[in-house]
Amino acid sequence: MNLVFATANKGKLREAGEILDGIVKLVTPPELGIFEELPETAMTLEENSLQKAERLRTLCGLDCFADDTGLEVDALGGAPGAHAARYACDVALRDGLPMPADHDFEANIDTLLNELGKHPGAPRTARFRSVVTLLYGQRTLQFEGILEGRIAFGRSGGGGFGYDPVFIADEYPGCSLAELPEEVKNAISHRGKALRAMARWLKNNSRL
Ligand code: IMP
Repeated sequence: MNLVFATANKGKLREAGEILDGIVKLVTPPELGIFEELPETAMTLEENSLQKAERLRTLCGLDCFADDTGLEVDALGGAPGAHAARYACDVALRDGLPMPADHDFEANIDTLLNELGKHPGAPRTARFRSVVTLLYGQRTLQFEGILEGRIAFGRSGGGGFGYDPVFIADEYPGCSLAELPEEVKNAISHRGKALRAMARWLKNNSRL
């Protein structure tokens, strides 16, 4: 059975491919001639991943899924949350500073460390949360995955992407996610947990 994954990110595709191996065959939007950037304009991960999946379903007419991830930092009242990819832009807008690009990982990390620096002594606990929305026949299902950890005081490691250099997972307290081999990170990651929950559901329910 084919399942379309709303992503152009090769790392995510590899991760999902390994988890769903033998259950479904993954297809990407470009393989179907779809190059449109899928919308994610809502306020929550649940709404954003649903929005992306529904737009993809409209474009391709096939069973599909989309994911959305946020970073919730306790000392910042849950920010950046679903705005993780554009946190530096949000803060620049708030403070009247020059506007960085969307998805500027370095600017997002600088902003995060800077904002946390305004709360000395506060706990640096945080979590990544992923929500995967699956549109399967007439059904709409959502699966969640959470990775608990804390925000470091500075960057370390050269792997991964996004906030990995400053995120320390509870399972590996001696290093950042960017210092873990990809397969080790994937085994504990928020996205991996959500995808494995979807894989279990598909295994039990798919009409092969
Ligand atoms: P997306 O919904 O997967 O595109 O994630 C939104 C943003 O969250 C990304 O632009 C990254 O900044 C951040 N992010 C998502 N997953 C990870 C991860 O596994 N490690 C570090 N940052 C992540």
